[in-house]
Amino acid sequence: MNALVLFSGGLDSTTCLALAIERYGAAEVLALSVSYGQKHTKELEAAEQIAAYYGVMLKTLNLSQIFADSDCSLLKGSAAEIPKESYAEQLSGTDGKPVSTYVPFRNGLFLSSAASIALSHGCERIYYGAHADDAAGNAYPDCSRDFNDAMNRAIYLGSGKQLAVEAPFIGKTKADVVAEGLRLHAPYHLTWSCYEGGEQPCGLCGTCRDRAAAFAANGIADPALL
Ligand SMILES: [Zn+2]
Repeated sequence: MNALVLFSGGLDSTTCLALAIERYGAAEVLALSVSYGQKHTKELEAAEQIAAYYGVMLKTLNLSQIFADSDCSLLKGSAAEIPKESYAEQLSGTDGKPVSTYVPFRNGLFLSSAASIALSHGCERIYYGAHADDAAGNAYPDCSRDFNDAMNRAIYLGSGKQLAVEAPFIGKTKADVVAEGLRLHAPYHLTWSCYEGGEQPCGLCGTCRDRAAAFAANGIADPALL
């Protein structure tokens, strides 16, 4: 194995997976899907379908106990409602703190776990799909360039310089991510992004709104909604 991809079954990580497969081939790519106590399993089911579509090995990891005391609105144990406003609207009321769907230090934990698993499989790179829109306004600080640089350095040093973190979309918008995914023919029809676990995406949560805007910016309809 050459590359491990942190893989949620959503749009960004599916594009990341497509990119890693283009670079190294499916046989050299390991997808890691993490269960963290989210309110539904739609994205994990999407991850399984997409891994099967590409024929990549998929590992799953359950880290939900670590978030058991969190009041993050995405989590099963939280009574908080998932906001139905855009991220810009949500951030206007947070006093510079992350949005309520920020899962405490999720990417830090996921990358550390991924580093350990990647080393066990001989991987030299970890890919993840952080992009500039998620970091904007401090909505998800663990998607920022500063955070990525620091984690990359920690993992590089802590692995004895065997392992590097690649965040190919760190300076890009979600619309840029979709443009790259369209070039790669990523199977967007199989992805799930919505924070709610309904039959169809809700169309109202922050991630549904961002996703719709990213496809609109590329002038196409969302293949998952056709
Ligand atoms: Zn939604």
